[in-house]
Amino acid sequence: MARKPIIAGNWKMNMTPAESVVLSQGVSNHYDRKWDKVDVVLCPPSIDLRSVFTVLDFDKSNIEVGAQNVHWEASGAYTGEISIPMLKDVGCTWCIVGHSERREMFGETDAMVNKKVRALVESGMKAIVCVGESLAVRDAGDAEGFVCDQVRAALAGLSDDEAAQCTIAYEPIWAIGTGRTATPEQAEAMAAAIRATVQELIGEQAAQGMRILYGGSMKPANAEAFLACENVDGGLIGGAALKADDFAALVAAA
Ligand code: PGA
Repeated sequence: MARKPIIAGNWKMNMTPAESVVLSQGVSNHYDRKWDKVDVVLCPPSIDLRSVFTVLDFDKSNIEVGAQNVHWEASGAYTGEISIPMLKDVGCTWCIVGHSERREMFGETDAMVNKKVRALVESGMKAIVCVGESLAVRDAGDAEGFVCDQVRAALAGLSDDEAAQCTIAYEPIWAIGTGRTATPEQAEAMAAAIRATVQELIGEQAAQGMRILYGGSMKPANAEAFLACENVDGGLIGGAALKADDFAALVAAA
């Protein structure tokens, strides 16, 4: 089954609102009609969202915007958090959930990730659910078991149709921001294991339609080998998303 590739830029905690205008304008300047066969998503810090939307011309390009995190409640006493209605109001259509930095540094558990995924899907937003193992888990020889458990936990309680709308990003923690990528063979093996897990949950046809991304030091020089993998349907890009030329080259490679 042909799956539409996704190239999503995770800017993390980089770019002031003023800088976000320059970067999103830079990305947008590269747009050409070939990009329409790819889902192109920019995920700036929340405080930059409005600024990014002032730049993007949705009549002319297919670039969409996502958040890096969200709370599952719609409103209330959650100091410092941002809700789905807020993201939708500003125009976001995507959201990253469960990035390893949030899991490791901010205590996000599988249960919290699941609540976020469920709330996003119910609201009609598109979730990019991040999973990935630490080096210790990989060295212990159980990376696939660990990652597939994360996938099951993230999708728990969703209907088959809801689960099928999610995108999974496989990001081995040891490859994020380290310059050390997984090999394409490692990425493909894990993406295939994730797809097999999803198939157990929601059936073959839906699993074949689900997009599975690789993330971790992906850049123009190494992207082609990942994007050629049968089960890898695009990339979640950190460092290389902060340079318009590099990000545009990744979209072109997809
Ligand atoms: P990186 O980050 O491309 O800088 O390794 C990827 C990510 O954490 O999403």
